[in-house]
Amino acid sequence: MNRNKRIGLIAHDARKAALRDFVRAHAGKLKGHELVATGTTGRMIAEETGLAVRRFRSGPLGGDQQMGALIAEGGLDILIFFTDPMTTMPHDVDVKALVRLCTLYNVVLACNQASADFVLTSTHFDAPYERAVPDYDSYINREIS
Ligand code: PGA
Repeated sequence: MNRNKRIGLIAHDARKAALRDFVRAHAGKLKGHELVATGTTGRMIAEETGLAVRRFRSGPLGGDQQMGALIAEGGLDILIFFTDPMTTMPHDVDVKALVRLCTLYNVVLACNQASADFVLTSTHFDAPYERAVPDYDSYINREIS
């Protein structure tokens, strides 16, 4: 990872205010980094903080999957994903897939405010960091019977 991080931002509706407050509180720190978000989350952050945010589609309309594709391509360093643990979602499979892809590719993942606070205050945040990405070539090249 470079000094400037590529950071994904997503919040479920019940957690959007919490993410907005978090981004506001850390706007100065986030400013020097590259932000990408799902549609509604990104609009809210751009409007309420003035930060530049690249926006995907809304999460339930494919935005979570766009974020997943970015992870699979090696284009994301950190995902800050404020999930709602109390509501059943129509796109629950997409949410699970994102968490799985972060695990698979060793992408930093924070699903609540305390974790996100730790990520932003880490000494790694504003410095280059060697992220170990597992080699999945043997999986691709496995024997198919
Ligand atoms: P949204 O999507 O930012 O468009 O609301 C978030 C989600 O529910 O995945």
